[in-house]
Amino acid sequence: MAAYKTESLKLWNKSKELRLKFYENYAKAHENGGLRWAGGAWTLDAVPRGLGDDVWSITSEPYAASIAFNRDFSLRCLEATEKRGYARDLCSYMRNYWGSIILNEYAFPEFSKEWPKPDFIFQDHICCSHAKWYQVVSDLEGGIPMYCVDVGIAPAMRANGEDFNYVEIPPHAVEYVLNQCLDAIEWMAQVTGRTYNDELLRKAIYNHMRATSNWASICELQRTVPAPLDEKSMYSLYVHGTLGKASQWCADFYEELLEEVKDRVARGIAAIPNETVRVMSDTQPPWGFLKVFRYLEEFGCVSIGSLYTFGLIGQWELKADGSWGAKTMPESIDSLPTDREGMLREYVKWEFNKPEWQHFYHPALKSAMMIKIARDWQLNGIMLHYNRGCEGLTVGIAENRLALQEAGFPVMTFEGNMGDEREFDEARTMSRIDSFMETLGIKKQTQRAEH
Ligand code: SF4
Repeated sequence: MAAYKTESLKLWNKSKELRLKFYENYAKAHENGGLRWAGGAWTLDAVPRGLGDDVWSITSEPYAASIAFNRDFSLRCLEATEKRGYARDLCSYMRNYWGSIILNEYAFPEFSKEWPKPDFIFQDHICCSHAKWYQVVSDLEGGIPMYCVDVGIAPAMRANGEDFNYVEIPPHAVEYVLNQCLDAIEWMAQVTGRTYNDELLRKAIYNHMRATSNWASICELQRTVPAPLDEKSMYSLYVHGTLGKASQWCADFYEELLEEVKDRVARGIAAIPNETVRVMSDTQPPWGFLKVFRYLEEFGCVSIGSLYTFGLIGQWELKADGSWGAKTMPESIDSLPTDREGMLREYVKWEFNKPEWQHFYHPALKSAMMIKIARDWQLNGIMLHYNRGCEGLTVGIAENRLALQEAGFPVMTFEGNMGDEREFDEARTMSRIDSFMETLGIKKQTQRAEH
């Protein structure tokens, strides 16, 4: 059995502090003279940054995941939402989020006991829940000004069986989103009474490019055997991109993290000491039960990430040698146009290349990307979460299972819900893991990683 050296991430505490600071900044924005806005993790968050450096956001999905992690609070939120008459089979992030508003409780009571109401909403819409999520938020709060960008434009990819390639997003589709962003800027300036600053927007777009490319570089390093990070840790790291991918702090942090992960690889530092088999997962995990990933370690099994952790924030491209790697960044901010329309055009072209947008268009695109990861990251199997809480990312997952199996990979499925613990059967999942590990030919070991 291999025995690798492990050590805690040096940036671990900084990572935790940054996340808490995000929720504190949002909660205390008003007392510090700033503004608050709400939108999703998919939102074009560089756009509101032109309003000023004191304009803080709360992103829906990671906020809801924080609620889900706190199982008691989550249950109260879910029940409060159901009591208001909302159906239990809607997106569970959305239901947790609405519950926090209905109860008027913030998931971070150390910063605010009450739910800090946003001043405006800036959202985009590709999943059927995206715009409706915030329409209800606005209604629950008695009417918050809201702007939603329609981003269902066109895939940036074509797949042919196990192969895929990037294609140019049609210019009319780019212009469609760009024009909505231009209108949104006028709208934001009007509802906030602020003067919009294009240089702040340009800085945010460049930060977005840095953050998303560097996160993909970090995920690329997961190809290494032994993997320098495990998926449970990656959840605590990718989250920064979901909080503020266009922020200076996030772009700087990923640059620092990339250096640390490179160093781990150079020194052979592993996520787990007994890496024997490598798997990946898919979609959001059941947040209240992350211990599933620690259980895998007892078998010497490391989950190296997933298309979700790699591609929700990471920006990728196919390299000349056929490998899939981080998208090449502009050399410097000076490479970006200085006029509003020009810089937004580059932003839109960059953003909609991202893997997670693609599989909204067809499951074949997701299958091709997953097979690529399974082969190039040297995986022994795949664990698919049939996630009832997220129709957006789970639709087509059964087709993905078949495609992965046809490509020769053992696949385990487990049913659950990222944000509703009532739909996760822990004992059954553990027993399915036991059977899957047996299929992969490994038995329980005793060594545990240093975390
Ligand atoms: S269903 Fe999934 S993709 Fe859609 S809003 Fe909810 S979490 Fe996001």
